[in-house]
Amino acid sequence: MSVIPILPEQNPPAPEVPASRRPTRAVEVRWGAHRVVVGGAAPVVVQSMTNTDTADVAGTVAQVRELADAGSELVRVTVNTVEAARAVPAIRERLDAAGCAVPLIGDFHFNGHRLLAQVPECGQALSKYRINPGNVGTGARREDNFASLIEMACRHDKPVRIGVNWGSLDQDLLARLMDENAAAEQPRDTGTIVREALVRSAVESAQRAVALGLSPDRICLSAKVSVVQELIAVYRELASRCDHPLHLGLTEAGLGSKGIVASTAALAPLLLEGIGDTIRVSLTPQPGESRTREVIVAQEILQSLGLRAFAPMVTACPGCGRTTSTVFQELAEKIQDYLRAQMPVWRAQYPGVERMNVAVMGCVVNGPGESRHADIGISLPGTGESPVAPVYIDGKHAMTLKGDDIAEQFHALVDEYIRTHYA
Ligand code: SF4
Repeated sequence: MSVIPILPEQNPPAPEVPASRRPTRAVEVRWGAHRVVVGGAAPVVVQSMTNTDTADVAGTVAQVRELADAGSELVRVTVNTVEAARAVPAIRERLDAAGCAVPLIGDFHFNGHRLLAQVPECGQALSKYRINPGNVGTGARREDNFASLIEMACRHDKPVRIGVNWGSLDQDLLARLMDENAAAEQPRDTGTIVREALVRSAVESAQRAVALGLSPDRICLSAKVSVVQELIAVYRELASRCDHPLHLGLTEAGLGSKGIVASTAALAPLLLEGIGDTIRVSLTPQPGESRTREVIVAQEILQSLGLRAFAPMVTACPGCGRTTSTVFQELAEKIQDYLRAQMPVWRAQYPGVERMNVAVMGCVVNGPGESRHADIGISLPGTGESPVAPVYIDGKHAMTLKGDDIAEQFHALVDEYIRTHYA
């Protein structure tokens, strides 16, 4: 009698996710020969933002390098004062000298038109400008200031992100839409009008930038809010009304696990629908905590959704009453940290290693099954089980480890797997 396996032996092919990306223009963000494409057929780009005082050249250079080393493909810096604007060319120069070509994006609010006019070298050293149409002035001044910013972008041949945020929404536009709604036969609820104002501010600002001479291929859009359901609704609407690449992120996502969970809940449905061409996860770091956490979370969101691969993934069980030792937790953490730490070297040395899956499991219940799904997996002995650990390689039981140094033996096997499978 033939036995029908219940589980496939290893790595069932991942479904293609999403079935299709929303078609957009491709916007090139350049520094020298280094190019990052946002939109078009390019993979979703990870970006982040410094929280140093940009006028502090050494501190900002150190943080930009740290973010770039962690995998941030674009890094945004605040440009809020003349001192900050003057520091930007020096920051760029030091990054270049250190071999760090990551493009810098200047974040402008209120006075960007003046700073770019006063310090044109800043405009040249940046690779992209972020303009908030809600923060460029009011009335006629708003139009003039916005036009000055677009003129600078054209003069320096830089792309822009027109980034709307509901914390700084264009109040004139919102008031106009509220008035129109109040006079309508069937007024809509306030939330709908705010969402419409966000989308309209982004889309109409892009149209105005094009009318002012900026190529539509040099414009990305965003419309950020801090409530998950609102963000999803706004981006679905924005995606349906333009073909510009979209910068996606939940603004002010918050601290710790709340920020990570809320960002993931907001970004995942949109990314699975093919909406979003570059993402930023806006986490509030603990005092003294590295800023790179937001980069790693952004990468893990994309990798969990099967959209990109950045580092080998470790599958580990949560543990339960069947395993009272901490051996598997320590091994899982050690392997994960080791794999991520090696990636800057391995990326070039072992192409494809970022797609590897490693399983570290706590007992015989799900250990062998989960390990067979991984490229290499270990099922550690639970409480009361014989003190041996079967290892599965490419879906097959390869060996059984025993002794006090099971962790070290498995570590060596992972190294060997990488050398023999990805060299
Ligand atoms: S694999 Fe074993 S130890 Fe891990 S959660 Fe499942 S039953 Fe518990």
